[in-house]
Amino acid sequence: MSERNRPASTDRTDGGQPAASGPLEPSTTDYSTTRERANCTCRYCGRPFSDERYLALHRGLEHPERLGAGEWEAYEVAVAADAQALRRYKLYALCVIVVVYFGFVLTYAAVT
Ligand SMILES: [Zn+2]
Repeated sequence: MSERNRPASTDRTDGGQPAASGPLEPSTTDYSTTRERANCTCRYCGRPFSDERYLALHRGLEHPERLGAGEWEAYEVAVAADAQALRRYKLYALCVIVVVYFGFVLTYAAVT
């Protein structure tokens, strides 16, 4: 009875992944995404990128004289998206600083 309960309890703690080492090994090698990288490689210098947006930013910054109208448009869209993400990051950073500051102030006021 106790031997039957032990494997059942270990299966529950694994969360449905009893053979974790087997399925994980092929998936780690599948992360190469060679198809996506082939689509996101700069055709002027051959540099690979993980995302189309990074490729568009690279083309606009490194090869501006060679860009066509579609690539310029993609560069401008990528710059606008990058600026928006940076603005959002600054807002989150400011919120975290304010929360930490007032957390310390309230803690100091409660302790003293
Ligand atoms: Zn390039």
